[in-house]
Amino acid sequence: MKNSIFKPMLVIPAALFFLQACSSKPKEYGKAELTFGTVCYVKIYTEKNGAEARNILDGLFSELNRLELIFSTNMQDSVLEKIHINAGKSAVDVPDELYGVLEKALFFAEKTGGAFNPAIGPLVKLWNIGTEDACLPPAEDLKEALNIVDYKNIELKDGTVFLRKKGMRLDLGGIAKGFAADYTKSFLLTCGIKKAVIDFGGNVLVMDTKPDGSLWKVGLKNPVIGEPKSAAAYIDVSGKTVVTSGNYERFFEKEGVIYHHILSAQTGYPVKNNLRAVTVIGENSMEADALSTSFFVMGLEKSLQLIKDFPEVSAVFFLEDNSIFTAGAEVKNLNILDDKFRLERF
Ligand code: AMP
Ligand code: MG
Repeated sequence: MKNSIFKPMLVIPAALFFLQACSSKPKEYGKAELTFGTVCYVKIYTEKNGAEARNILDGLFSELNRLELIFSTNMQDSVLEKIHINAGKSAVDVPDELYGVLEKALFFAEKTGGAFNPAIGPLVKLWNIGTEDACLPPAEDLKEALNIVDYKNIELKDGTVFLRKKGMRLDLGGIAKGFAADYTKSFLLTCGIKKAVIDFGGNVLVMDTKPDGSLWKVGLKNPVIGEPKSAAAYIDVSGKTVVTSGNYERFFEKEGVIYHHILSAQTGYPVKNNLRAVTVIGENSMEADALSTSFFVMGLEKSLQLIKDFPEVSAVFFLEDNSIFTAGAEVKNLNILDDKFRLERF
């Protein structure tokens, strides 16, 4: 998979289907597939019979595969590729789903002063982080790419998208999995499923409480590069999304320097600050996804200012010195499992 915003994080068979029937009601059914460049895993809890549950999950994943074709940058016939081919030339009609995500992406670009940048595609393509082609691009190539990453040159009008400059490329890797998680939730609700766990590689959304009425425990991975990715902490939640952006997710190392996948549209290089990871907890997964990427780019201080504009959102910041900073009601009871991390402030 070359030049994809959706890079597989694990190698597993393309379609892994399994059913797990528990003895008590409701039963648990799950399905995992490689889509949106990651392992997308959905578990539902229902009293419906096995065939019905399987139909719902199959229907859901065929929808997710349809959406991947809209958002992917590595598929030749994706809608994004069509927009890129027409950059500097003409506007392209796009499906409502893409138009809606782009509107949200531009909202966050404005809100973050361009820290979140859906026009970051030319830089993502040069770095190729997360693929076997990842490399340190020549400085002059990065400099040139900086001329075509202004999100203000993305024009949305009446269901069409126009990139004003030739060579511009969209990249929705920082928001699309959140959209897919919200979409999955709506799809399941329409099918009468009220309890589920949706896990799209770092984008988790839990619907309602566990079947026994207790809260879900969602783990936050140890973000230290080189250490096992066991849970460093967990939070108890119901009906929430928990989304993490971290420099450990996709990176390569060259001459002792870590180059990761979250890029600055100011410098062209991976963002450098004192953060290892940011987890955002909220109601809406697309918003939490955009915010976790934004917070990672903005750093702790500016993020603590911006989060005030999102009263329903909480966040956990993992710093390089192993301190953890939190903001918001949902993380008041953050449970730290690994005692090398220090909780500095609520
Ligand atoms: P996430 O894991 O949600 O933080 O998203 C990271 C992905 O978003 C990267 O792999 C890129 O595809 C894309 N990306 C990188 N830098 C930025 C940025 N500054 N703004 C928006 N998206 C970005
Ligand atoms: Mg994100």
